[in-house]
Parts: sequence; C-alpha cells; structure tokens
Amino acid sequence: MRSYFMNISSIIKQLLPAQPCFLCGSMSHDGMWCGACDAALPHFDAPHCPVCALPSPAGEVCGHCLQIPPLFTRTTAAFGYSFPLDKLIHAMKYGEQLALAHALAEKLTLRIDKNALPDCVIPMPLHPAKLRERGFNQSLLLAATAARKLNIELLANACQRVRDTPPQSALPWKERKKNVRNAFRCDMDLAGKRVALVDDVLTTGASLNALAEAVQKRGAVEISAWVIARTLPRSGGR
Ligand SMILES: [Zn+2]
Ligand SMILES: [Zn+2]
Repeated sequence: MRSYFMNISSIIKQLLPAQPCFLCGSMSHDGMWCGACDAALPHFDAPHCPVCALPSPAGEVCGHCLQIPPLFTRTTAAFGYSFPLDKLIHAMKYGEQLALAHALAEKLTLRIDKNALPDCVIPMPLHPAKLRERGFNQSLLLAATAARKLNIELLANACQRVRDTPPQSALPWKERKKNVRNAFRCDMDLAGKRVALVDDVLTTGASLNALAEAVQKRGAVEISAWVIARTLPRSGGR
C-alpha cells in the first residue's frame, strides 16, 4: 500500500515542470533543490541536547542548559548551520527568495513531534525599521508555512521588537544577551498557551530566550523553539 502511494507521488512529481536546482543548477523535479543536493545538506541527525539542540554524546541535556536553563524547554532544528545550508538561509534573507522560506519550513515541519504540538506559533519579530529595509520578515514566512502545514494558529503580530538592536551576528557571543534584553514586547494574553517560537538560525539562543521571556510574562506555559538551522561549534558562528 505504501509503495502504491509512493508511486503516485513520484508520478505527480514527474508531471510538475522541472526547475533548476538552487544549489547546483541541474534540472530536477525535486523542488527548490535537487535530490543529490538535498542528500548533501547538513540534516540535523546527530544526538543533541533536547533543550538547545547543541550536540551532546547521547542526546542528554547539555551542561549549559543544566546550569542556566533557557526559558524555552525544547528546540527542534532541521539542519546544522553549515555549507551549503548557509547559502540557502542567506539567499532567503537577502536575495528575497521567498520560495526558499517555504521549502525550508517544510523540512522543519517534518521534524516536529506531531504528538506534542503547541497551541500557536509566533515568529521572531523584526524591528519595523528592519522590516522596511528588507521588505519581509523571513521568520514570519517560516512560521506561516509551519502553522499551515501543522494546522496550528499563527500569531503573526502577538509580539513586537521594540528596540532596534545591532544584529547579533555583529557582536561577540558574550554581548548578545545584553543586546537583546527587553528587546521584545508581547501584546497578547497567552495564559495557559503552549507556544512555539520560530526563527531561522539559533546560535547563542539569546534572542529566542528574550522573546521567550516576553511570552512567558503574558502567561505562556510551555515554550519551544523551532529553527531551520542550529549553529554548531566550529561551524563558523553567526
Ligand atoms: Zn542540486
Ligand atoms: Zn542544551
């Protein structure tokens, strides 16, 4: 039965027009990138800390999370933030490749535990000045696809970024926490809600933690982080 459905889906795929792979340029029916490039992406399969998704030998909670637990209790990442996934993220953010956001969010939703879905999804907000500059919030695009695929409520405007902080990537790791302190405000009553916060890349987790603090103040009871990519040690940082 399963192979019957797999045959149908591969037939449907063949009926769609071939398109050049975003990464290698070869024509394929696989979507934004071809099957070979998909296999080469840094899929996030190694054992990792369930809280912050940092690799840990047996998938146990990492020392950092034991010492200073973040306000989100679980992280789901689709990829490690390394080549060539970094190219896709960069193109999504700065090359206005909106279709990429959709394709990446689909990969993320495959990883979400369907037996423990939250009540709502909240994207990492952009400051209005940055939004004007970029024209779109990539985290909102990611969150919208995830919410639609999983049939969960999208709270697109529940949270605001109230301070236009320098990009985290421009700062040393130690200063990132201070940089985003009180950067967010949540305008919605989230009493008793289980919330997933959506962002493109998780590095130190400082932004996600600051956003988690804002939703926790409004009553959110269980906060998880959904990210496309997790920066891994020695993968260059961001
Ligand atoms: Zn390719
Ligand atoms: Zn951890």
